[in-house]
Amino acid sequence: MDLSSGYPFWLIKNGLPFNYPKLEQSVETEVAILGGGISGALAAYYLVNAGIKCMVLDARTIGLGSTCASTSLLQYEIDTPLSELKNLVGYDNAVRSYQLCADAIETINSISKKINYKEFTASKSLYYAAHEKDISFLKDEFEIRKKNGFIVKFLSPTQLKKQFNISAPGAILSDCAATINSYSFMHALHQHSIKKGMKIFDRTPIKNIKHRKKNVKLITENGNTILANKLIYATGYEVVEFLKKDIVKLHSTYATISEQANAKIKFWKDDVVIWNTAEPYLYMRTTQDHRILVGGRDEEFYDPKKRDMLIEKKKNQLVEDFKNIFPSIEFKPEFTWTGTFGATKDGLPLIGPYSPLPNSYFALGFGGNGITFSLIAAEIITDLITGKTNNDAEIFSFDRL
Ligand SMILES: Cc1cc2nc3c(=O)[nH]c(=O)nc-3n(C[C@H](O)[C@H](O)[C@H](O)COP(=O)(O)OP(=O)(O)OC[C@H]3O[C@@H](n4cnc5c(N)ncnc54)[C@H](O)[C@@H]3O)c2cc1C
Repeated sequence: MDLSSGYPFWLIKNGLPFNYPKLEQSVETEVAILGGGISGALAAYYLVNAGIKCMVLDARTIGLGSTCASTSLLQYEIDTPLSELKNLVGYDNAVRSYQLCADAIETINSISKKINYKEFTASKSLYYAAHEKDISFLKDEFEIRKKNGFIVKFLSPTQLKKQFNISAPGAILSDCAATINSYSFMHALHQHSIKKGMKIFDRTPIKNIKHRKKNVKLITENGNTILANKLIYATGYEVVEFLKKDIVKLHSTYATISEQANAKIKFWKDDVVIWNTAEPYLYMRTTQDHRILVGGRDEEFYDPKKRDMLIEKKKNQLVEDFKNIFPSIEFKPEFTWTGTFGATKDGLPLIGPYSPLPNSYFALGFGGNGITFSLIAAEIITDLITGKTNNDAEIFSFDRL
């Protein structure tokens, strides 16, 4: 599958910081993880910490799936607002999903400290109404979040203008958010896990998978085999090739990042992450090297050729969108890219076993919270593999579909 094109910023910034070998022989392991992006890296991190022998396999050079294209905002706010999610999955599950995402941000912070990773930046999140008609929805959304213990403030147009210099009908300011570079974080996780005994192989496409009664046998392009007690599918959007169910809708999304600004220039208050109620939504963040990243302008199709032809147009639109919000901040786009993006109907990920494929677990962090969902998947799957009960597993299971 063609997952991204253009110039994904993190790939340019970090290049290929590490080399990983190809698999050149047949091997055995307790757990095989198919996919070495952020989902596979987090799953491996949890498994090695639980003392489980595991092995990561990837068809691409590590990180060159969706992970290098991610704009890497960490939000507790799911693409489906809480006030809507409760109608889709029930009140308790909806609130719990939001709480788990908030916890995941905290956990990513602690992991970053443990592995001495420096590109995690704690932030706040500003969710503003793109149109006057969105205000009553935004107020309901604020009330339900406040009632459930999330630290939120409702900002009137005057407060929004005074604090953030944004002219909009209102906004929810949340205490919980962060930014990261998921590509460098993924490498840092892999480097940590390698030291603890994890094996990782890239440029190793798996062409055949046999789910057997007691184990799983993977066969590589070169005919080598991997015999594993369990398999974790951390294959990102390419999972559609393995599932019978039509579970994910693929879109195209766009992002552009500005030139580096002088470090003395202040962009906006507290460098909060910003997004809005438009459909598709517009979002922005800043980076540690003092750039502004703007994303959105999604198209509801998966067609790489058509998607790529729109890059220039989308860049101009995103720059225009940014200027409409912050006319006084200079934004000179430097790198623009596009990526495939998958979403489920309820906006929640798919995590856990899938009965037609025994001895396997799926770690599919679909939607705008892909990274926090990957963390939740790593926690749940590690619990299931080590025989612990995880009361949240059901919320994200295939059974809900
Ligand atoms: C433009 C863009 C912006 C985004 N912004 C955000 C954001 O701000 N916040 C957020 O949380 N999420 C965001 N996301 C989503 C997030 O980036 C993804 O959820 C995440 O990167 C997925 O990681 P992954 O490891 O699951 O998949 P990937 O990074 O795609 O890794 C899966 C790997 O599996 C491998 N694989 C698949 N099939 C096989 C096979 N048969 N054999 C061997 N290997 C195989 C692939 O080669 C691939 O490298 C964004 C995504 C895009 C595209």
